[in-house]
Amino acid sequence: MIVTRFAPSPNGPLHLGHGYSAVIAHDLARAASKRGEGGRFLLRIEDIDGARSRPELADELRRDLEWLGLEWDEVPAQSTRLASYSAAAQGLLDRGLLYPCTCTRAEIEALEPHMGPEGMVYPGTCRNLPRDPARPAALRLDMERAMAEAEARNGGPLEWVDDRLGLQLADPRQFGDVTLVRKDAPASYHLAATLDDAADGVTLVTRGADLVFASHIHRLLQALLGLPVPRWHHHTLLLDDAGRKLAKSRRSGELGWGLAERRLAGEDGRALAESLRMGQMPAGISLSDYPCEAP
Ligand code: GLU
Ligand code: ZN
Repeated sequence: MIVTRFAPSPNGPLHLGHGYSAVIAHDLARAASKRGEGGRFLLRIEDIDGARSRPELADELRRDLEWLGLEWDEVPAQSTRLASYSAAAQGLLDRGLLYPCTCTRAEIEALEPHMGPEGMVYPGTCRNLPRDPARPAALRLDMERAMAEAEARNGGPLEWVDDRLGLQLADPRQFGDVTLVRKDAPASYHLAATLDDAADGVTLVTRGADLVFASHIHRLLQALLGLPVPRWHHHTLLLDDAGRKLAKSRRSGELGWGLAERRLAGEDGRALAESLRMGQMPAGISLSDYPCEAP
């Protein structure tokens, strides 16, 4: 059985890059079911960011997916699963693998931290400090301890497999002590998505190549939390004519990149999905040459 998912955050309208991602995840499940292995394609609304998530955008994106001709099973949204995130975080805290961090972004920036592949690497300021109870705290993973414990449990280095990149050695140390519980939410993306993929029985995590970094962290969390290890499929990204990945906030000229705006302009969504699957991109858009070049 192959179970894939599309996991959008309803904090802005979907664009062609999301459409491409959804089509790929859908088709991988569909292909497995045609081969007789069984396949399911799931939709999970990642609305953990209560301040930015909007229910009407979730409705809108369901209409977009329908318009593209996709069929899915919807699993519960992240906002309904907060208790499971808190329970997992408490367990890691009890094991001494998380510590409270009261630093603000400005305080971290002022320390001129080392830049990792995904931005600033937290310098560990709060790791050995008692918590100041007057200040709100996030919970960070003590990366060195976590890796030591996970590799000991695993009996060696952690590995993960991507359909396109092949066998990977999990190397989350390069991201430092990542946040697992935010100041303003009971989980970070990393903790919530890892727990949910396991709870939803996802066997093939499908998402853009810009999130390869996250898989190193997620593999570590799977080892720490005793979760099943899926396979991954990181797909090529859609780029605009300046070679930048499409973003929710950027627009092209005439017909924009937004799925809803194209749908409302009368474009044939099924035909669009068909072109995306054939790798034929609308004008002004190209595919990155990943995995030949690192994303
Ligand atoms: N909610 C995340 C996003 O929209 C999902 C990433 C993932 O597929 O894991 O970027
Ligand atoms: Zn701190």
